[in-house]
Amino acid sequence: MTIDPYSWLARSRDTIHRAGWYRAVQTIEGRGGAVVILEGQRVINFASNDYLGLAGDSRLIEAAVSATREYGAGSTGSRLLSGHREIHRELERAIARLKQTEDAIVFSSGYLANIGTISALVGSRDLILGDDYNHSSLKNGAVLSGATAIAYNHCNLADLRHKLQQNRPNYRRCLIATDSVFSMDGDLCPLPELLEIAEEFESMLLVDEAHATGVLGKNGAGCAEHFNCTGRPLIQMGTLSKALGSLGGYVAGSASLIDFLRNRSPSWIYTTGLSPADTGAALAALQILRSEPERRARLWNNVQFLKQQLSDLSIELFPSESPILCLGLSNPTEALKAAQTLKKAGIFAPAIRPPTVPTSRLRLCVMATHEIDHLEQLVEVLTQQYRREKSNSRATEGKPGEA
Ligand SMILES: *Cc1c(COP(=O)(O)O)cnc(C)c1O
Repeated sequence: MTIDPYSWLARSRDTIHRAGWYRAVQTIEGRGGAVVILEGQRVINFASNDYLGLAGDSRLIEAAVSATREYGAGSTGSRLLSGHREIHRELERAIARLKQTEDAIVFSSGYLANIGTISALVGSRDLILGDDYNHSSLKNGAVLSGATAIAYNHCNLADLRHKLQQNRPNYRRCLIATDSVFSMDGDLCPLPELLEIAEEFESMLLVDEAHATGVLGKNGAGCAEHFNCTGRPLIQMGTLSKALGSLGGYVAGSASLIDFLRNRSPSWIYTTGLSPADTGAALAALQILRSEPERRARLWNNVQFLKQQLSDLSIELFPSESPILCLGLSNPTEALKAAQTLKKAGIFAPAIRPPTVPTSRLRLCVMATHEIDHLEQLVEVLTQQYRREKSNSRATEGKPGEA
């Protein structure tokens, strides 16, 4: 008798189904945008990270095509071998200029930037303090580094301070790591206070600006700019794949930090350089960020409008200071049901469930390219749903009395 060593896979998948945690892809036709065709149905898109609507912008597409023509489809090797082109350096300089840092380094994705940076900066004699709600790439970077990783309660400075007091003396280096905009909640890390604590405990501070780059700050430089922390001793990581509409990740900071990463970061050294197309598109996006600040203004107008409308209807959102707005739901099944109801009504807003987050929710991402009419349609659909839920809960409350 042989036992199939893969039989556990089907059992595991059944468990995932039973928990309501099963996930599957949904096909969007053509380019992303404020309105998309999802599985054949026209829906208003509140699921995209393309905050400024740049992913489908003809200028980014042209830049990708022209970089491809000039440099080829692939970059053919690691940046330290055959994979480096002048366009990579141009992009890194443009990022450093946006961030007002001495230098920047571009990775093939934000995920690779986080795991490669963290594992280069700390090791087995070191300590990492990370926000409990941090992105998967920060958490896995901590695991990969071999450092002792301790989570502090979400945005809780007292808890962070307490854990530093207890642990910091036992370790060589210390890295505090946090999302700047929390990707599944939409709130911001308390950056100025974190900087103070980092200084007090002789710790490095890494902020993940994935959802803040292009979105927050006067020039779209992110949370650091928003909080007037430009020029402070920070490791600023971010992605080219959200508001910048392309693909790739970056780290911006001091020249010595960036040079160190070029020599020590395994996910930069041992992977192929960013493709010319992605590099060209990201460069074009950074130029648009500078020349069209009205895009960011439109994004924030849309956020304000939607928040006001929902608050007028007493629809409660998670606290948010970003274009990410969340509606709490009691469990994964409810969240899935709500997402399905919305989808039937032409609104694409995904249910976010454990294990991604501790509690289920609908997550709405506002874009600069949403028309007021799109936002009004969303509000209309949510209103209907809330009315229905209220009358349902009244009906169930009524039952014991009837019996
Ligand atoms: C999306 C995201 C990343 C990963 O970036 P990619 O470029 O998509 O790999 C990292 N951190 C946070 C907070 C993110 O939201």
